Amino acid sequence: MKHYDEEEDFHARDRKQFRKERKLAQSTDRSKFKKTDLPSAGIKPILAQDHLHFGRVLSISGEGSWVDCEGKLYLCSLKGLLKKEKSLTKNLIAVGDIVHFEILSEKAGAIVQVSPRLSHLSRTDISGRKEQLIAVNVDIAVISVSLVEPPLKPSLVDRYLIAAEKGNLHPVIVINKVDLLETASEEEKELYRDFLSAYEPLGYPVLSVSTATGVGIESLKSLLQNKTSVFSGQSGVGKSSLLNACFGLTLKTGELTQKTAKGAHTTTMAELIALPGGGYCVDTPGIRSFGIWSLKKEEVITHFHDMAAFGENCKFPDCMHISEPSCAVIQALEEGKIAPLRYESYQTLLNESMSGDGKTSWG
Ligand code: GDP
Ligand code: ZN
Repeated sequence: MKHYDEEEDFHARDRKQFRKERKLAQSTDRSKFKKTDLPSAGIKPILAQDHLHFGRVLSISGEGSWVDCEGKLYLCSLKGLLKKEKSLTKNLIAVGDIVHFEILSEKAGAIVQVSPRLSHLSRTDISGRKEQLIAVNVDIAVISVSLVEPPLKPSLVDRYLIAAEKGNLHPVIVINKVDLLETASEEEKELYRDFLSAYEPLGYPVLSVSTATGVGIESLKSLLQNKTSVFSGQSGVGKSSLLNACFGLTLKTGELTQKTAKGAHTTTMAELIALPGGGYCVDTPGIRSFGIWSLKKEEVITHFHDMAAFGENCKFPDCMHISEPSCAVIQALEEGKIAPLRYESYQTLLNESMSGDGKTSWG
């Protein structure tokens, strides 16, 4: 009997969500500006030299950057001057970059300059000391999580929400594998419900989908139509399956080791894939950890919009909202005005920002 009620609840939620998603999709469609429209969006070559060409970086390998210039691909190296640039960024070029390059031969070129970026998704590199750009000039960060396998981890979602906000991307939260709800444990179902009630009020689209049954895929597709989106999230949540389902691609799915073991795609780097209907998508295979680059402890609360306003009423101006007396955030939590999942996430990310190594593995 209980099981039946939950099913009902789930379907009612599904219908409600569909209406919400449609509304969101329509509102997103109205946005006039796309980051993929860079050349027409006012980014001009800084060096207006005739011999330079304008292109978009689609992928990066050990050999260089693959740059698309009006449908032709050039494998480009970096001009010496660029390489010498001292920077806190590990990679000087990222997928999605709009670059100026010299054509050296039929298929080779040299990048002279990188256009200013309108958005970026980055993380802390493996050393913990540098920023690693994952993709740039992207409109939407599809924050992918799954139910049951791998289990839903709210703090991962917050990690990406903060990175998206810092990098000027619109987040869309996608909960994949909702088909597994049917056989999920009570605990897993409860976590899913708690997650929805904590994250839906934040105002970002939250879609429950399944590539196995097709549920929610149309709504996701309409949100991503004609945009550039980067699919991020833990390995195994179904990013490649989602990209295949949304865009008719044929990316390998399944175990990461199998995906990368054989064939041409021995690399696990991000790649910008042009979509038939316009726009691009980026898969991010092989990212095993995601530490937010340059997150100061005082900054963490400012990204938790549902909690930040309470923080203004704390007794101490430098309150970190952990165990200080007269903390308005803790009081709001106790009064049920802040979702416990969000507060737990806040604690996790605050601890991480204080430990300073920025290396966060999700195992
Ligand atoms: P990625 O590592 O995030 O790219 O994940 P994949 O797309 O490779 O998928 C990982 C595994 O999850 C594969 O075995 C898929 O078949 C499975 N999977 C993907 N989507 C779903 C879904 O909606 N439901 C279920 N039950 N399994 C799925
Ligand atoms: Zn406080």
